[in-house]
Amino acid sequence: MAADNINQEIRVRIAPSPSGHLHVGTARTAVYNWLFARKHGGTFILRIEDTDQSRSFAEMTESIMDSLKWLGLDWDEGPYFQSKRTELYQQAADRLLEQGRAYYCYCMREELEARRTEAMAAGRNPLYNRCCRRLTAEQRAAREAEGREKVMRIAIPENGTTTFEDLVLGPLTKGNDELDDFIILRADWNPTYNFVCAVDDVEMRISHVIRGNDHVTNTFKQVLVYRALDATPPYFAHLPLILGQDKKKISKRQGAVAVTEYRDQGYLPEAFMNFLALLGWSPGDDREYLPRTELIAAFGLERVTSTNPVFDTDKLTWLNGQYIRDMDDNKLLTLLQPILMEAGLATRLEIETRWHWMLKIIHSLKERLHFLTDIIAMGAFYFRGEFGYEEQGVAKYFRKDGTSEILTALADEFAKIPEERFNQESSEQALRALAESRGAKVAQLIHPLRLALTGSTKGPGMFEITDILGRDNCLKRIARSLEYIKTLGPPE
Ligand code: GLU
Repeated sequence: MAADNINQEIRVRIAPSPSGHLHVGTARTAVYNWLFARKHGGTFILRIEDTDQSRSFAEMTESIMDSLKWLGLDWDEGPYFQSKRTELYQQAADRLLEQGRAYYCYCMREELEARRTEAMAAGRNPLYNRCCRRLTAEQRAAREAEGREKVMRIAIPENGTTTFEDLVLGPLTKGNDELDDFIILRADWNPTYNFVCAVDDVEMRISHVIRGNDHVTNTFKQVLVYRALDATPPYFAHLPLILGQDKKKISKRQGAVAVTEYRDQGYLPEAFMNFLALLGWSPGDDREYLPRTELIAAFGLERVTSTNPVFDTDKLTWLNGQYIRDMDDNKLLTLLQPILMEAGLATRLEIETRWHWMLKIIHSLKERLHFLTDIIAMGAFYFRGEFGYEEQGVAKYFRKDGTSEILTALADEFAKIPEERFNQESSEQALRALAESRGAKVAQLIHPLRLALTGSTKGPGMFEITDILGRDNCLKRIARSLEYIKTLGPPE
C-alpha cells in the first residue's frame, strides 16, 4: 500500500464520543494515532466529540481519559471539547451560507418522510431532492415569514465524483449523484457530526485521519465539507474492523469491550497496548512481543492489514505473561501490593516490612503468572497455612503407603537445621541425603512434601518454597499434613 505520506507536519487525533467508556476499537485507533505521532515526531491530539449532549457524560470523558493515560497514550494537545466550540461551527456554516455552498431547507418532516418512502418504493436512493436549494429569494422570504422550522444543508456538486486517497484501502470514489445535500445544522441549530468533524480537522490542521473503517461512508461527506471550506483534505487511513473470536464484529455481548474491564481483569497496560497494536498491523516479521519503543520504531501505516483482525484473548493473555516475566521484581511487587491487600493475603505493613521476603515470593511465581491477579490463587499458600489438599494429589501421594513415615523422617531432618541456616541449599541437601539413605528417589519425597507445604501438586520450585516458608512453617505444615493423612484411613 501507499507510504505514510509524512512530508508535512504530522498532526493526528483521537476523537472519542463520551457516550461510554473507552472501548477496544477506539483504543486501537488511539494506539495507531499515538504510534504514528511518536514515530514521526508529530502531535497527538485528544478531541472529545460531545456535540450530542443527550449521549455525552462527563464521567465518561473522565473514564476515557483515565483509560488513555493507563495505556500510556499521552496527548500533546487537548482535550478539546466540541461542545465548547459551537461558535466555530456556526461561523463555518455562516460562511458556507454566504458563499452559496450551504442553504436553508424548510422542508417539513412529513414531506421528507413521504418522499423518502416513495423513493425507496421505486428502488431509488432516498436522497434529498434539493428543492430548497432552488428556492428564489421571495420563496425563501415567504417560508421565513411563515415561521417554518429550518435546517441548513450543504450544497454538494451535483455532478462528477468525490474521491479520497486512503493509505490503507487505496483511492476510493463515489459518484456525487449517490451523495446527499446532507444537513450540517439541525433545526435546533446543533451541528451534525460529519460537519463538525471536518471543521475541526481543518481548524486543528490534522494531517492524517486514522480511524476505523466503519467511517468510510462518513469520509465522503467530510471530504465534501473540506472542499466546501476550500481546505485540502487530510490523508485518510481506515483501519480494518476488529472481530470477536466468533468472527463477528466485536461487541459487548462477546464479553469485555471497555478498556477498564481489561485493566480490572489484571492485564498490564504495556501488554494491552502491544496487543492492540497487532490488531490490524504487523511489524513485517514474526515478532509479537513488541514493547513500546519497538512498536514506535516498527510502526507504519503501510503495514496495516486489509483483513479483519480477530480479538484473540489467548494471545493477549500470553502477551500479558511475557510482560510480567520481563518486569523488574520491585515494580511487579509494587503492582501486586494492592491486589495482595485486597485479597487479604497481606497488609501494607507486612508487605513493606517484609519487602525482601515478598520479593522472593514474586520471583518464585513470576514465570507462572498470566495475570497479576493470579497471585491470589497461586501464592495464597505462602501466606496461609489452612488450605485444603488437592484431591488427585491426595490419592496419588498421601494415600501411598509409607508417606507418613517419609514425611516424619523429613521433618526430623529439617528440624536439625537451625532456622537461620534453613534455606534453598540446606533444605535441598537434607532431602537429598534422606532420599539417598533410604534408597528412595528424590521425587518420592518431593511430591508429598509439595502437597504438604502448598496443598497443590504444582507450583514454584520446591526449595524456593521451603526457603520462603522457613523451617518452622515447613515443620508446622508437615505436622498438619500428617494429621490429615491419619484421617484418610488405611491406603487403598
Ligand atoms: N467520534 C467518532 C467515533 O468515536 C470519531 C470518528 C473520527 O475519528 O473521526 O467513532
